[in-house]
Amino acid sequence: MEPQSFNRVIVNLTALEDNFTIVQTLAGPDVPVMAMVKADGYGHGMVEAARAFSRAGCSCFGVAELREGVALREANVEGEIYVTLGFSKKEVGYFFSHTLIPVIYDLSSARALEKEAKHRGCNIGVHIKIDTGMSRLGILPQEIDRFLAEIKGLESLRVTGLMSHFPESDIPASPSTERAISTFSGIASLSPSAGHLCHIANSGAVLNFPGARFDMVRAGIALYGYDPAGKPAAGPHARMLRPAMSFISRIMQVKELPAGTGISYGHTFVTTRKTTVAVIPVGYEDGFSRHLSNRGTVLVGDRRASVLGRVCMNMSMIDVTDIPGVKVGDEVTLMGKKGSLEVDADDLATLIGSISYEVLCALGNNNQREYSR
Ligand SMILES: *Cc1c(COP(=O)(O)O)cnc(C)c1O
Repeated sequence: MEPQSFNRVIVNLTALEDNFTIVQTLAGPDVPVMAMVKADGYGHGMVEAARAFSRAGCSCFGVAELREGVALREANVEGEIYVTLGFSKKEVGYFFSHTLIPVIYDLSSARALEKEAKHRGCNIGVHIKIDTGMSRLGILPQEIDRFLAEIKGLESLRVTGLMSHFPESDIPASPSTERAISTFSGIASLSPSAGHLCHIANSGAVLNFPGARFDMVRAGIALYGYDPAGKPAAGPHARMLRPAMSFISRIMQVKELPAGTGISYGHTFVTTRKTTVAVIPVGYEDGFSRHLSNRGTVLVGDRRASVLGRVCMNMSMIDVTDIPGVKVGDEVTLMGKKGSLEVDADDLATLIGSISYEVLCALGNNNQREYSR
């Protein structure tokens, strides 16, 4: 066995499966759920997460980059795999060799796919990305007709879908979301749409905007157990979702320091009493943000312990003065449940001015992962 890290991210596969079932139930029986597994499955491990969603009935996956789609296919994940971020023209062959579905938003990508399809003597279905207000990737609504006309002559290319993305669907009844739904509906009904799959809903829209489901929804954060809006979860469905990831470490050293002792770089914390300090091998390198300096709390036994002073690259110090019997090797929960207490990605995100998504990516993608049920 390889040497193991002191720190473990534990991903509960049952939670991933159950969350998929909840999202699928919400979407309804006729609306497939595309499971977004980019960013290594939001830190949960792309392949393991995709397999868990497959077991729960998922047959449609979304990634950002081509290399992710290739890795997913090479891990024998079956079903449709959408590459949503675009691709480098010289790598276009992978869409054919690995049966991946390209999402395009420019003519040069369409031409590269056409050329490769001709060369291989086949054709390829593409989804077109439309910018209905995110102001990120996508063709603007006023340019879509021209774009469709331009690619019409590409005979090996079939437009099989239209997609877009919401900037504010985590806010119930947000006007920008209502506007985007109506813009997208207009485009979906105008285009010669027989056989087109139209999809725009992310987790926020699945939870908050039933009118945004169209032919398919694309869920990410909800599948990993979180409401995109953070806590408290707004609706009954969001409350049923269950975080799948926890993050556990161990105590490396325990020491007693007198009052007036500075702790960690910059001595930003100075003890005001005799203090029992425990050192944990977790730092910003492990995705435990430096913004948690003097702010974070972790769980030891079934008590909370505060982070003292600055979070270092590989270590942090915590205050265990009021927790009796703490010793080297004791388990520390940085994210997850311990007894009746819990720290989740929303709690950590609030402390660092971020969102659960970033916390999950940072912890999940910088630590050894284990899977449980
Ligand atoms: C990541 C992503 C989603 C999922 O967003 P969540 O807020 O995590 O549900 C949906 N669509 C696209 C194009 C994405 O990149």
